[in-house]
Amino acid sequence: MAEAAEPPSGGVEAAGGRIAGRPASSLKIVLLGPPGAGKGTQAEFLARTLGIPAISTGELLREGAKAGSELGRRVAAIMTSGGLVDDATMAEVVRERLAQCGGGFLLDGYPRTVPQAETLDWILAGKDAGLDGVLLVEVPEEELVRRTLARGREDDREDVVRARLRVYREKTEPLIGYYGARRLLHRIDGDRSVAEVTSQMLDALGTLGLRS
Ligand code: AMP
Repeated sequence: MAEAAEPPSGGVEAAGGRIAGRPASSLKIVLLGPPGAGKGTQAEFLARTLGIPAISTGELLREGAKAGSELGRRVAAIMTSGGLVDDATMAEVVRERLAQCGGGFLLDGYPRTVPQAETLDWILAGKDAGLDGVLLVEVPEEELVRRTLARGREDDREDVVRARLRVYREKTEPLIGYYGARRLLHRIDGDRSVAEVTSQMLDALGTLGLRS
């Protein structure tokens, strides 16, 4: 499961190509799924294939914490405990980062609550745009715990991992209904090899716009 795989070349043309009749570089995509589902790995592969930036809010916060910024100091304890940083702070972080994006993007780790999803809609409406798709990566819970503990990050102790999963179920899972109702949701079986998951994602993206 943890093998280093190259993204498959089929399904979509390489960066700079088109997908579902549109330039791949304009796609605005959210990766949704529990912690440990492999979103970070997939985000990198997909972003490279499509030619769009992968934006991980967890990574942005970790960078802030490492740099010792005011924001970093404020969020460090929350991150170590497995809780969520407040929606207002996250809105600032995401708004600032998206302002640097000309076209498409792949968001990994945002939104994590319904108010965050509403904020994202609002930010995009201001740019006269909307999301193209939401990829939901599904993995059984015990596999998530196993994978996350194997990853060995500082906030990857078992009690913290379980806390993050609880927060996911309570705060983030409602987004499945939110995006499902907007017909943006694509379910991906994340309990497969890295390459198989990537190719399911590319297949899902190939159908964008076909259902509306
Ligand atoms: P991740 O790298 O996505 O697992 O994020 C690591 C930690 O950063 C999470 O456990 C949260 O404490 C915090 N975090 C990242 N993204 C968000 C978000 N969208 N809302 C609230 N907290 C977040």
